[in-house]
Parts: sequence; C-alpha cells; structure tokens
Amino acid sequence: MKAAPFNYVRAETLAQALDILAEHGEGARILSGGQSLAPALNLRLAAPELIVDIGGLAALRYISFAEGRLRIGALTRHIDLLRSEEIARHCSLLTSAVAHVAHPAIRNRGTIGGSLAHADPAAELPACMLALDATIVVTGPASERRIAARDFFLGVYETALRPGEVLTSIDIKGIGSSKTYGFAELARRPGDFAIVGLALAADRRGTTLSNLRLAFFGVGERPTLATLTAATLEGKAHLRQYLDAAQAALREELNPFADAHATIAMRRHLAGVLLERVLQQALETPA
Ligand code: FAD
Repeated sequence: MKAAPFNYVRAETLAQALDILAEHGEGARILSGGQSLAPALNLRLAAPELIVDIGGLAALRYISFAEGRLRIGALTRHIDLLRSEEIARHCSLLTSAVAHVAHPAIRNRGTIGGSLAHADPAAELPACMLALDATIVVTGPASERRIAARDFFLGVYETALRPGEVLTSIDIKGIGSSKTYGFAELARRPGDFAIVGLALAADRRGTTLSNLRLAFFGVGERPTLATLTAATLEGKAHLRQYLDAAQAALREELNPFADAHATIAMRRHLAGVLLERVLQQALETPA
C-alpha cells in the first residue's frame, strides 16, 4: 500500500515548525525519524494533510550531563544513545535498553522524542522514562510544559501532547554514583517489540535498594510502575529473601492482556522471571 497524498514542509527552526503546526491544527503531523510514522502512512493508519519534518533541527539533537542532571534533545537518535560514553557512564539503563530497540537501520534514524511521542506500550524508552522519573519537556506556540513521565503516557499511542506541541527534550535529575539499574525483556526474536520487559532504577547501598522504581512494558496499554511490588523490596537488607513476596505482589498488581504472543498467565509468569533478573543486575552493578 502507498501513503495517501500529503503536503510536506521541512522546518528550518523550531519556531517555524510551531507556527506551521499552529496554522494547520490537527491536519498536520510531525516527522522526526519517520520509523513509526512512515509505516503508519503507508498502511494508511495515518493520513495527515501536511507533514512537518523537524528531523533537520540540529539544535534538538544533543546529550548533556551536569550536576547529576541529564538532558537529552528530542531528536537524539537511538544510535546516539547507544554510542554515547556519557550515557553509558551516567545512565547505563538507556544504553542497555536502546540496544533492544529494533535493528541498526531503524536505530540510525529513529529518535528518542519520536519514540516517546509514539508511545507504543511495548517500547523500551517510555518505560525507561518512568523508571528514571524523567520529565518530558514539550514546547507549544505560547509556552513550554514540563510533564512528569508518569503523567505523559496515557494509553496505546496516546500521550499528554496537545495538537501544535513539539516534544523538545527530556530532563532526568538525581543521577549519581549511588544509582543502579537493571533492564531485561523477552521478545520472540532480537529487535522485536517485547512481549514483556522491565526497566529498574534505584539507589543502592550494599545489597539494599531504595527509591526503587520498576517500570514494566508490554503488559498493558502504557508502561506501568509496579509500586506495590517495589514496596515489598524497598530498603530491605538481604533483598533476595523477599523475592517470593515480591513476585506474589507482582502477580496481584499487574493486569496484563492476552494476544497472539502470550496468554495473561504467561505474561504474569514472565514478568516475575524478569523481576528476578533485573534485581540480580541491579545488585551486581558496581556501587
Ligand atoms: P516518527 O516515526 O518520525 O514519529 C512517530 C510519531 O511521533 C508520529 O506520530 C509523529 O508525529 C510523532 N512525533 C515524532 N517526533 C515528535 C516530537 N518531537 N514531538 C511531537 N511528536 C513527535 N521501537 C521500540 O521502542 N522498540 C522496538 O523494538 C522497535 N522495533 C521496531 C521495528 C521496526 C521494523 C520498525 C519500523 C520500528 C520499530 N520501532 C521500535 C520504532 C522505532 O523505535 C521508532 O524510531 C520510534 O518509535 C519513533 O521514532 P521516530 O523518530 O522514527 O518517530
């Protein structure tokens, strides 16, 4: 199938993109890396009148770290995250996660902003944002809004973005040497969207984890923080003794769906398996 006819404009500046978006309202659609939008156009799942290509806005492609704060421009590509020494040093969760995103050709073009705006419930980066308690920065015609990741993802392909707004950056605070991470997912083949996945972020002292955030993906309509499960492990010395209780809490807390890839029971079981794996990783990471 081929895309329905559309007009195309390549924005030279963010201000120009915002003006065009304001003028065309819901008939316009932003293009970043095109790795999700182009298939949607070709399958005629989307048929905008106008494509506003922001992919060339170099000012939105950056990674910066200072004083425990990581800022990532929306047009930072998956490959940039994967190759960044700064990300590997300060926030290895993203390095681990992005290695699971699709394949090299898609990682070369796809962007973090596009992935978050697309909000696929089985995608890796939205769950990482939840685990990292990130703030998503969006810019509209008149002002900027800062939205906590937990309020940003609303449902399947649905976010808090309003028409005319551009996701411009991601702000992650509280990064430091006490942080530890874990990431694991189960997919049919490497590069496929996950059947179930889990991103973990916490502060670690010895074998104790605090501020533990467990963000599951592929189990519901949006990435899900397993707060009750985290509470069974929070601040506990000898964490492994509490694994059975945590897995029991997880079975209660998660409300997964069934599809062609897995039954509800299988997803619940796999989530428990991943919990054990990421806890192991988080405790093994040098503190
Ligand atoms: P686009 O395709 O350009 O845009 C996606 C959507 O977001 C569009 O609706 C667009 O209007 C909107 N948008 C884009 N940028 C912005 C912005 N800055 N502000 C507001 N709205 C914006 N992803 C995974 O996470 N895991 C996978 O395993 C995975 N596997 C894939 C396999 C295949 C075969 C393909 C084709 C894609 C796969 N993807 C996967 C998707 C890939 O990660 C995309 O790169 C990503 O979802 C979208 O990023 P993009 O920059 O290409 O966005």
